[in-house]
Amino acid sequence: MQRKPMIERYHDQEERRKACGPLGRDFYKRYMKPFNMWGNLWYVGDNWCSSYIVDTGDGLLMLDAGCPAGAIAMTIQTIWEAGFNPRDVKWLVLDHEHIDHIGAAGFMQKMFGTKLVTSAAAARTMREHPEWTGLQDSSDCFDEVFVPDIEVNEGDILHFGKVTMEFKMAPGHMPGAMAMFFNLEDGEETRRAGFFGAHGVNTITNEYLDEIGDYDRVTRQIFLESCRRMRQEKVDIFVSGHTGMNKILAKLEQWKEDPEVNPFDNPENWNIFFDNKIAEIEAFIKDPTRGFKYGVG
Ligand SMILES: [Zn+2]
Repeated sequence: MQRKPMIERYHDQEERRKACGPLGRDFYKRYMKPFNMWGNLWYVGDNWCSSYIVDTGDGLLMLDAGCPAGAIAMTIQTIWEAGFNPRDVKWLVLDHEHIDHIGAAGFMQKMFGTKLVTSAAAARTMREHPEWTGLQDSSDCFDEVFVPDIEVNEGDILHFGKVTMEFKMAPGHMPGAMAMFFNLEDGEETRRAGFFGAHGVNTITNEYLDEIGDYDRVTRQIFLESCRRMRQEKVDIFVSGHTGMNKILAKLEQWKEDPEVNPFDNPENWNIFFDNKIAEIEAFIKDPTRGFKYGVG
């Protein structure tokens, strides 16, 4: 087959880029300075997608990997700015199999030998329905799904250095969504952290469920049940998959005004999020035509 002329290929690329969501494009506008959230937990995400580093005392544990395309470079830079070498990230735990959470995962696995951890269900999605991840919207033709090194199931417990992590499946937003509960340390003090990121109602709209073949809308009930189960957990520090879920930007402002009180060290953050989320899903089930604008969450 004869190759198209250069100028046509250039315009094709421009069209592809324009067709993409706000995942890679203008990623640098989402940059934010990393910060120490509590004890051995650092925030290294951007102002929309959250990522974290936990210093386990025996290598770094990373939670979620931001967006793909150019945003991978930003994630790597942010890890450096937090005072860590990205090459020291031994493990990367991914809370669900969506493009805005798995961005740097494949890169880190290949570049640094980072061990990737997902639920067995998320691994299955990537094998059987890679399009559900949204990678087709990445704007980068080199982005691809990955094969995790470790697959976890309900109740599994893994040890990362001094950190013990318990995995609980929380499907709904995506089949492979899960929550993780683990200990954090600050000198003699400890806290129970809860990591959850699979929150968007974008995957329970009529349009979305028709496309994946869920004509009985069972996914909505599964999502609601997962959130009700998560609400029962006692969590001191909410580790959220997006800044909006835990009002991270507002809390940082609050912290500046009152440096003595760490607003992230508050068990109510988890409870408030799930109370609101349960109400949102219940309202959505009553009126599913209310719609949702954008395709990831
Ligand atoms: Zn998602």
